[in-house]
Amino acid sequence: MLEYAEPVTKLIDELKRLPSIGHKSAQRLAFHVMRTPEADLERLIVALREVKQKIVLCSVCNNLTEVNPCRFCASSNRDHSVICVVEEPYSLVAVEKTRAYRGVYHVLHGSLSPIRHIGPSELQLANLLPRLKPENNEGVAVKEVILATNPTTEGEATANYISRLLKPLGLKVTRIAMGMPVGSDLEYVDEVTMDKALANRHEI
Ligand SMILES: [Zn+2]
Repeated sequence: MLEYAEPVTKLIDELKRLPSIGHKSAQRLAFHVMRTPEADLERLIVALREVKQKIVLCSVCNNLTEVNPCRFCASSNRDHSVICVVEEPYSLVAVEKTRAYRGVYHVLHGSLSPIRHIGPSELQLANLLPRLKPENNEGVAVKEVILATNPTTEGEATANYISRLLKPLGLKVTRIAMGMPVGSDLEYVDEVTMDKALANRHEI
């Protein structure tokens, strides 16, 4: 394999540490960086630094935010009696895009995975139980927790774990429905999706 100059190897090694970036992608990105004018790179460096300096986790829901508590937790227009639990901040954005949900959120920043050695203590879970008490929730009693983790083995395991944690508290714990993607054809849907779609059927 062709040996690169040390600064190039160093950059490739750093890029490889990013999620979903393998050696080839890291190489491509490194060469892109080398061809990019310095002023453009400077903007990227400033953006990276700013995000690190200005963005914090909301102390209530763990959402990424510039103000703490975040705009959802601080809003009086949101229903603080319903909490939607999601894996990542971008899952929150996906729910928010529907404009159908008016409750608040809880962001876990991951999902349980024995293979990747991610247990409950690696997730942002510790502040979920305390916020269910009215005295920690501006006097509002939480009525429902919606488990909107991903429909993957890890997401399912996470939902089951949290559900077991919350059930004894006597509040309503729900799981988002999973099934057929809109606009899809039955022929092309895998059996797990079809199974979930059948299980989650409703009367019309
Ligand atoms: Zn928040």
